[in-house]
Amino acid sequence: MNYQNSLQFAIEQDRNDKLKSYRNKFYFPIINGKEAIYFTGNSLGLQPKSTQDYVLKELEDWATHGVEGHFLARNPWFSYHEMFANPLAKIVGALPSEVVVMNQLTSNLHFLMASFYKPTAQRFKIICEAKAFPSDQYAIETQVKFHGYNPDETIVEINPRKGEHTIRTEDILKAINDNKDALALVLIGGVNYLTGQLFEIEKITAAAHSVGAYAGYDLAHATGNIKLELHKWNVDFACWCSYKYLNSGPGCVGGAFVHEKHHSAKLPRLGGWWGHNKQSRFKMEKGFDPIQSAEAWQLSNAPVVAMACHKAAIDIFDEAGMDILCDKRDKLTGYLEYIVNCINTEIKNNNYKLEIITPADKNQRGCQLSIVAHGLGKDLHKQLSENGVIADWREPNVIRCAPVPLYNSFEDVFRFGEILKTLLNK
Ligand SMILES: *Cc1c(COP(=O)(O)O)cnc(C)c1O
Repeated sequence: MNYQNSLQFAIEQDRNDKLKSYRNKFYFPIINGKEAIYFTGNSLGLQPKSTQDYVLKELEDWATHGVEGHFLARNPWFSYHEMFANPLAKIVGALPSEVVVMNQLTSNLHFLMASFYKPTAQRFKIICEAKAFPSDQYAIETQVKFHGYNPDETIVEINPRKGEHTIRTEDILKAINDNKDALALVLIGGVNYLTGQLFEIEKITAAAHSVGAYAGYDLAHATGNIKLELHKWNVDFACWCSYKYLNSGPGCVGGAFVHEKHHSAKLPRLGGWWGHNKQSRFKMEKGFDPIQSAEAWQLSNAPVVAMACHKAAIDIFDEAGMDILCDKRDKLTGYLEYIVNCINTEIKNNNYKLEIITPADKNQRGCQLSIVAHGLGKDLHKQLSENGVIADWREPNVIRCAPVPLYNSFEDVFRFGEILKTLLNK
């Protein structure tokens, strides 16, 4: 695409944007009396204007029916989670039976590891990315200890090479091969939260399987951001949260994927009544009889009020569709990249430099760009905020910007660039 650093160009792109009507479906925070330039949809997605109605409906049905709402509510609570199977399957590239909405992300990591991490004296190692999101690090460390192993001898972290920011696939594949006799599990993020690097899930999964290990993914930064094909890629399991790109609200319910081939297998698991055969669930009899789908990993009855927030957001996603979202994503993120590169040529202070550490190859990233602000500190973030930009700052000097295709515009990107340039040349 031929980009131009002008407001006119940005407005023209927005006019031709097939998704332009979606911006108005969300509430934007107001700063200085104006809609903020919101680039933190990778951290907490904006609230759909429809969410209130979805929630209100469940509160009304609860008031009207009491416990009978399990079956009499307009969306019966007994089967509420089933409404997500089709739309979520499309978002993550799965069969409807392979996805389920339940719990939250870190809880799901633990419940899935209970099934897929079964260390033995021979096979016990876990490969993960260095500097994974802290919650993932703690989950892996405590699982390893829970099974009586020493994390230092068990967890193999893959680092970027010296002087590089992102991890090379060949280095992950090499680590898998180097540990082939002792490897139990590869568990990494789909998209690294810090650098925005998208990992080559299909290749990594095939390599893990070739040495007899499972492959699982934390898709917190990938779901709703990347076109995934979890079923086709033969991924064993995955989980994600719903409050980042999926716009379902702070701490909302998470999602999980378990490949069809594991549904009938006798994997160990931690069960609960909501994973039990639906026909006999209310008979309250002895003996866990798991549903033959990802639903079998559910423990508790669904938190319907939170699920309603999720439903409001997923309905919007389903209507827009991943293909068109990803198409706009590449154009919009490419525009941000172009604007940042333009600014670099216009910075007057030689000590300042912006370096994008997210891969330049659009097949290795989603919508997030992580920008190292050389020579600058947290004050830059503060000034951006004061000027109406909500972006994320990671110490010591990384700005993470995620122009989200569902609700961000080319004009947002252009205006961000103008503000950033002014601050850098002040
Ligand atoms: C956001 C995020 C989490 C947060 O976990 P919760 O259990 O939802 O609080 C965990 N891991 C990754 C990679 C994340 O990006």
